[in-house]
Amino acid sequence: MRCALCHTDSHLIESHIVPSFVFKWLRENSATGFMRMRTNPNLRIQDGFKIPLLCSSCEKLLNAFETPFAREIFYPLHKEDKFRLKYRDWCLKFAVSVSWRSLLYLLNYAEDNGPPFPEEVSASINAALELWRKFLLGKKRNPGKFEQHLLPLAQIQSFTGDKNLPDFIHRYFFLSVDVDVAWNEERAFVYTKMCRIILFGRLYDVKPKMWKGLKVSANRGIIGPKTMKIGQDTLNYIFSRVKNAALMENSLSEVQKEKIHKSSQKDINRILSSETMRAWDYDNKINSKH
Ligand SMILES: [Zn+2]
Repeated sequence: MRCALCHTDSHLIESHIVPSFVFKWLRENSATGFMRMRTNPNLRIQDGFKIPLLCSSCEKLLNAFETPFAREIFYPLHKEDKFRLKYRDWCLKFAVSVSWRSLLYLLNYAEDNGPPFPEEVSASINAALELWRKFLLGKKRNPGKFEQHLLPLAQIQSFTGDKNLPDFIHRYFFLSVDVDVAWNEERAFVYTKMCRIILFGRLYDVKPKMWKGLKVSANRGIIGPKTMKIGQDTLNYIFSRVKNAALMENSLSEVQKEKIHKSSQKDINRILSSETMRAWDYDNKINSKH
């Protein structure tokens, strides 16, 4: 079979779409130690989802970007709400590799494909996939207009807007993994949420300056406290994903709910100190303010 990255015929490895360190963190920090995917909420996902995608040398190439990202960004960002994290050139490579894999997964493997893409989205997807592939192989110096934007998430301190925050927001922010493509007339992006990190792989944007402070630089940069801006349409989109995740929780079968309840009772201390309890607590607090 052909490797999706270098295009040579080779024995393909089952590659993670969302990196395995995200699932490892979830196993160690959520109350019940596992999570579920939107496409099949009744299935426990212990180790993420994998597809046969890469030859062994391309798998190694992408792993080399994952290791520093996990160590320098992902784990420190999940330890506390105050963070100022420096990155080097591996950050953009990592971000592109995740957006590229998410997009390939959504195009070829997702069970719930949703409505077909409009023509301009399809054209952008094809162009982005090819440019990202070349960038990952070192054949392009940057991903051009198909930029990567990273939004780190933390506890919401206050919120002003004409709508209320969704009830489930911190549980979604802290504990969910979510992969999707979103589009409207003005912009389209591939969306990969990895617990407290939302990564947007930009496909097109007719008003690119509406977003501020999230772009991942090619060489070096800082992820930390600064003013960041996304448009109202993107905020509404994130809220729609929160509601979707809440619905998924509710759609669990009774048998599954009973199983979760039993596994939760096994270790009360683990639950009380878990990220799940913290997220519940924050959701209760933020709702009582509004
Ligand atoms: Zn390869």
